[in-house]
Amino acid sequence: AAEEGFDLEEVEGAIEAAGHGPLPVLAVVGRPNVGKSTLVNRIIGRREAVVEDRPGVTRDRVTYEAEWAGRRFKVVDTGGWEQDVFGIDASVAAQAEFAIEAADAVVFVVDAKVGATDTDEAVVRLLRKAGKPVVLCANKVDGPSGEADAAYLWSLGLGEPHPVSALHGRGTGDMLDAVLEVLPQAPEQTFGTAVGGPRRIALIGRPNVGKSSLLNKVAGEERVVVNELAGTTRDPVDEMIELGGKTWKFVDTAGIRKRVHLQQGADYYASLRTAAAVEKAEVAVVLIDASESISVQDQRIISMAVEAGRALVIAFNKWDTLDEERRYYLEREIETEMGQVAWAPRVNVSARTGRHMEKLVPAIETALAGWETRVPTGRLNAFLGELVSAHPHPIRGGKQPRILFGTQAGTKPPRFVLFASGFIEAGYRRFIERRLREEFGFEGTPIHISVRVRE
Ligand code: GDP
Ligand code: GDP
Repeated sequence: AAEEGFDLEEVEGAIEAAGHGPLPVLAVVGRPNVGKSTLVNRIIGRREAVVEDRPGVTRDRVTYEAEWAGRRFKVVDTGGWEQDVFGIDASVAAQAEFAIEAADAVVFVVDAKVGATDTDEAVVRLLRKAGKPVVLCANKVDGPSGEADAAYLWSLGLGEPHPVSALHGRGTGDMLDAVLEVLPQAPEQTFGTAVGGPRRIALIGRPNVGKSSLLNKVAGEERVVVNELAGTTRDPVDEMIELGGKTWKFVDTAGIRKRVHLQQGADYYASLRTAAAVEKAEVAVVLIDASESISVQDQRIISMAVEAGRALVIAFNKWDTLDEERRYYLEREIETEMGQVAWAPRVNVSARTGRHMEKLVPAIETALAGWETRVPTGRLNAFLGELVSAHPHPIRGGKQPRILFGTQAGTKPPRFVLFASGFIEAGYRRFIERRLREEFGFEGTPIHISVRVRE
């Protein structure tokens, strides 16, 4: 990797960010009383949850979980950092240094009303040495008149000072946007906890496609309802269902069985429930009414599963009602409307007659296998090498960007990181995805490809 111009740390960082690494960590540092704790409380809002609390000195490193713009990360509140101090404060300083070392990015808080002090300058030197991305927070800018104070902090040489009032919330959103730009992506939800347990299926589709009919058909009399929460009407219920000699967990089946009649807002709740079921599942079985034209709503439901990174099976129901003409037009619709998910296994079923019910499980198993596929790095690079020499990226501006090497950073769904010598166009990325699928299968699973470009 080093000869190719990427250093190992960069490569490992990219792989971890693309795979299933732990949550990225943001450290909040600064002198005592600049407003770090106030800012941290602002960032974590009400979802306050201490995940790590190290006892020791008077003020300790405390870690919280936070979320901004849909991304999760950890926030470490450090004590104050004073240069050349002894006793308790020296220990706090050590904690802050450690926090910076362990962080993926740092918010450096300065009191804009006071301006940059010698201690602040010392912290800047420490941050430089650590080499972590830094977002400069000019705190205590409670109103527009304070903006000028913030501008003075350009002198620290850390780039744009973000004027913030941690106390009132002014400017914190913009500052967090800047933080997300430098913080590595939070990993996807991991599925490690359910190893060996029943696989989780979300049976989804718009109203009246036949979800509850299908569920009743496959469940027969042997179903076991688990985690039913008494008292309320909209609670999710998971059902254990035996199919093809195995037990499967159908998640959130309550909403399927309860006939939600089209009333105001029903669509909205149906879509919330779909999202919740997809979130809990490993594989989504999207049911489509084959007797009707494929609708925007059908496509939206498929997108929800794909965007959530779940394995996908598409089942066309009510096959018993199709005449030859409808079958002809359905195939045309599938070609034009569903090309994006041509990789999903498809079954044509009838919940009424039981047609092809036995094909459901093999399709689900195929999709789950694709979802968990891992391509060894050696094989992947042999494949990429051949591909790139046979079909090089088009020359742009006199240059030819090249894929140098790649690795699979994660599974469920498969995630790849490719390292390139220049910007790789969307068309070429799609070409690579197509060829990856041809070579390695990935039937029934979305795949994720990120490209890192050598600076
Ligand atoms: P830390 O010791 O650096 O964690 O700072 P604290 O969060 O404890 O805040 C120190 C003091 O500054 C407290 O009295 C806060 O109320 C005050 N403070 C924090 N942020 C702001 C702010 O944005 N504006 C103003 N006016 N005061 C603030
Ligand atoms: P859900 O809203 O998706 O749960 O759909 P239902 O299971 O309630 O089915 C809606 C309607 O379609 C009902 O009248 C079912 O009897 C009918 N239906 C479901 N599956 C089939 C099928 O395979 N063939 C036919 N002909 N009708 C079906």
